[in-house]
This record gives sequence, C-alpha cells and structure tokens, in this order.
Amino acid sequence: MKRKALVIGAGLGGLATGLRLSTRGYEVTILEKHSQAGGRLNQIEQDGFTFDMGPSFFSMSYEFDELFNYCGLDNPLVYEELNPLYVVNFSNGRTYKIYKELGKLAEEFKKVEPDFEKKVIKYLDDAGKLFHDTEGLVVKKNFNSKLDYLLTLTKVPWKHSPKMFRSMWNELGRYFESRDAKVIFSLVAFFLGSTPFDTPAVYKLLNYTELKHDGYWNIKGGMYKIVEALLSELEKRGVSIHYNTEITGFNQNGTGVKGFIDKNGKVWEADLFISNSDAASFRGNVLKRDRYNTDRLDEMDWTLSPFTIYLGVKGKLDNLYHHNYLLGENFEEYASKIFKMSISPDKPYYYVNVSSKSNPDSAPEGCENIFILCPVPDLRYKKDWSDKETLADNIISDLSNRTDFDIKKNLITKRIVDPVEWENTFNLYRGSGLGMAHGLNQIGGFRPRNKDEEFKNLYYVGASTVPGTGLPIVTISSKLVTERILQDDKSVQ
Ligand SMILES: Cc1cc2nc3c(=O)[nH]c(=O)nc-3n(C[C@H](O)[C@H](O)[C@H](O)COP(=O)(O)OP(=O)(O)OC[C@H]3O[C@@H](n4cnc5c(N)ncnc54)[C@H](O)[C@@H]3O)c2cc1C
Repeated sequence: MKRKALVIGAGLGGLATGLRLSTRGYEVTILEKHSQAGGRLNQIEQDGFTFDMGPSFFSMSYEFDELFNYCGLDNPLVYEELNPLYVVNFSNGRTYKIYKELGKLAEEFKKVEPDFEKKVIKYLDDAGKLFHDTEGLVVKKNFNSKLDYLLTLTKVPWKHSPKMFRSMWNELGRYFESRDAKVIFSLVAFFLGSTPFDTPAVYKLLNYTELKHDGYWNIKGGMYKIVEALLSELEKRGVSIHYNTEITGFNQNGTGVKGFIDKNGKVWEADLFISNSDAASFRGNVLKRDRYNTDRLDEMDWTLSPFTIYLGVKGKLDNLYHHNYLLGENFEEYASKIFKMSISPDKPYYYVNVSSKSNPDSAPEGCENIFILCPVPDLRYKKDWSDKETLADNIISDLSNRTDFDIKKNLITKRIVDPVEWENTFNLYRGSGLGMAHGLNQIGGFRPRNKDEEFKNLYYVGASTVPGTGLPIVTISSKLVTERILQDDKSVQ
C-alpha cells in the first residue's frame, strides 16, 4: 500500500517536495492556507495587468532542471537570461549597467575604478573557488548534528577561513577602491537579510553566481509559470491540494504526529508530514515548542520585510530595464539603520522590476507593469503600517523624477502589500520576506533542521530550514528533505 504524505503549504518548497515524493511512490496531499498555490512565488492579477508578487529572477537555473529530471520530466520552463543582470542608479544620476561580460562591465566602471577588469577577475576567481569548494560539500548536504556540520566545515580548504571572520564590505575593500563598486557588489548581502557590514565575506560566492557562474534568469511568460508547471504535473499524478486550509494544531501518537488539525477543526492524518510553513515559527506557533516561543523567535535574526507596490501604467518607461536598483548616496548610514528603524525611510532605497519589458502579455498594449520592492524593518521594529500610502507616494514620486515619467498621471492600477499583509497571507514570521537570516550562527547545522527533533514522522522544507532562502536554494531544500525521508523510510523505495 502507498505511504501517505501530507505537505503543509503549497509554496515552491511544498510543491517541489510533493512532486518528488509522488515520483517515489507516495500518495501526496497538500494543504494551503492561501487561496492559491505558490507562497511567496505568487501572482497578482489586477485590471488587465499581471504581476509576479515576489521573486522576479533567480540564479542557479540548473536546480529546476534537476527537479524536473528527478521526477522523470522534461523541464517545461523556458528560461530567459538577463543581461544586463541589473542596472544600478544612484540618486545623483550615476548609472551602472551590470553586464556579465567583464570587459563590458569594466567600461561602466572606468571613470571610478582604475584596472577594474583585472580586479573583478581576481575577486570572482576567489569567489568561484569558494563556491565550488562548498556547493556540494556544505550547501547540498543533510547534516545529522551540529558536530557533523562542524566536521564537514573542516574539509573546506583552509584558505577560505579568514572570509568567515571578515565582513563582506571589508573583503570588497581588499579588491576595489571606489565606493560605487563596493556598494554595488555588496547588494547581495541584502538578499541574505543582512548588511554588507555584518555579512561574512563567504557570501561573496553570490557575486560569482550572478556575474560568472550561471547569471540571472527570468521565465518566459512570468515567474508564476514555475508554479503552474508544478501544479499541472501534480494534478496529472492525482495529488490533491486543499486551499484556504490553515494548520493550527496537531495530535500526537507516541513519538510521532498522528494528524494535523486545521482552523476548522478537521484532522488530517497521514504516515508522514512535511511542513513548508516557516520551519522556526511553525515549531513555536503550531507545535508549541518552548525553544521557538515568541521571545526566542524575536531574538533570532530575521531578514528584512518587503514593502511592495504593484503599478499598471499607460505608456513605456524607457529609462528602466528589467531589473533596477535605485539607491541613495548615504549607503553606510542607510544600511546600518534600515534593520531597526521604527519609522518609514524618507529617502528609501528600492528595487524595481518591469516584467512587461520581457513578458509583453503581462500588461495591456502600450502599457507597462511596475513592481517595486522596498526592504523595510520587520514587524518587531515597525508594527504600524497605516502610513503605507505616504511611503508608496514617496517612492512613486522619486521613481517618476528619476525616470522622467509621470507615474501618477499615467496610473491605471495600484496595489500596495505591506509587511502586515505579507505576514498574514503566508504566515511569514513578523513579515520577514526571506525567512531566517543567514549569519554563521543560523546556517548549516545551526539552522532549524529539516527533520523534527521530537516527532519521527515530521519533516520541514523551505526558506527557514536548510540550506536557506531563494528559489534555487529552496529547490535544493526539497531534494534534501526527500533524501531524508527516503533514508528513514527505505521500505518505500
Ligand atoms: C518580495 C520578495 C521577493 C523575492 N525575490 C526573490 C527573487 O527575485 N529570487 C529568488 O530566488 N527569491 C526571491 N525571494 C525569496 C523566495 O520567494 C523564497 O525564498 C521562496 O519562495 C520561499 O519558498 P518556500 O516554499 O520556502 O516558502 P513560501 O513561499 O512562504 O511557501 C510556504 C507556503 O506555506 C503556506 N503556509 C504557511 N503556514 C501554513 C499553515 N500553518 N497551514 C497551511 N499553509 C501554510 C503559506 O501560505 C505558503 O503558501 C523573494 C521573496 C519575497 C518575499
């Protein structure tokens, strides 16, 4: 008889794990709190415009190939490479196009950084060595204990160890002199939920993944195609997904979980359970574990909250590319304050994505869809978002000035999603956008494990368990948890 697996959450982690387990002969059921699948990888449709709600690009595209390959499928997604990867605009007008071709990139920096090409080659060479020395050994590996993890770290070549103790900002200072080069290459630290001043230099490997290794990709037709492809295959395999079903409690059966209980009191039983809900806060809020009570969760490091704005406008924004970062001139001051501010920033730094530039179907003819993401403090620091219209207006005016395009005058549709809504929609702890942060004390053996400490039939997948956040990394998480389950449950193979 088929073993029954219940997946809690239809985010990328839950859907990918459901697909992998169905491939290995499990009977899978998925429960989802929201009214549609995808979690943060979601879609908003409004007044003829379609917006990717969260993720707008990804690196390590080969991880999606691996997922479909594992499940015996041809990858149906059509990748579109981004080049320039992104464009950075400083408020005084300096603009840099970040090209993958290093010679072309050097042209962008020629006024501010002498010998840029030589320097960037050296920087990326070191970052590449670190990436390849750790990807298989540390990132794509299950650890059984902290000791197991620490012993594995000793196998990483020692030459990389100073980068654990040096900040990303200081590391960049060893290669580059100009502030602009340092600011631009340190933006990846924000993806990890920290500042380059607090992020260890080991994360320079992200510069290698963006500039050298696999680059950044978009999906033809929009990022939600990823979710649609997974849903279509799950449906063919008879996997049922129940929406508007939030798990709030559980029944225990000796050392295992017997069933999870939804908000309406219905009990969902299975042989094994995989939570795609945040791996730390689920342990606290649903399992009532003391180690993850609210006080302890609040003491952990969390990534910034997203403040997102979705705009449909008439006309074309010729001064914007697919991906754009709009920064101010006070990077050090801004980065050091942004995590703990209790008020909205008055000169916010933000990211803009115009997906209609590469996916024309996402906006009516002659129009453009604009997605704005402004990273803001999580709800521990700023609870009240009643000023959301003011912050949105502030960003829209700034963007209008910097692009020479009157957004307000040409506005057809607008939607704001503040940290409170992000928290409530997907159970993101304190509205944290990327889940638990990735300091050395919260990664690998120190991150919430993908197998429960107490219940032998409960597992976790997603951004706050191993290896961490981001679409390719969550896809790896689905592989790691599936390997764990198969190892524990050899009889099913
Ligand atoms: C604004 C934003 C922009 C981003 N941009 C990028 C990007 O460009 N590139 C990139 O690679 N990554 C990006 N990320 C990160 C990426 O979205 C996440 O790392 C990834 O989608 C997380 O997937 P997940 O499966 O772990 O979690 P989620 O997507 O959060 O899925 C978890 C699911 O579980 C459901 N759930 C939670 N609790 C319960 C419960 N108790 N009962 C039932 N269901 C429950 C939730 O509703 C949700 O659907 C971005 C994130 C945000 C917020």
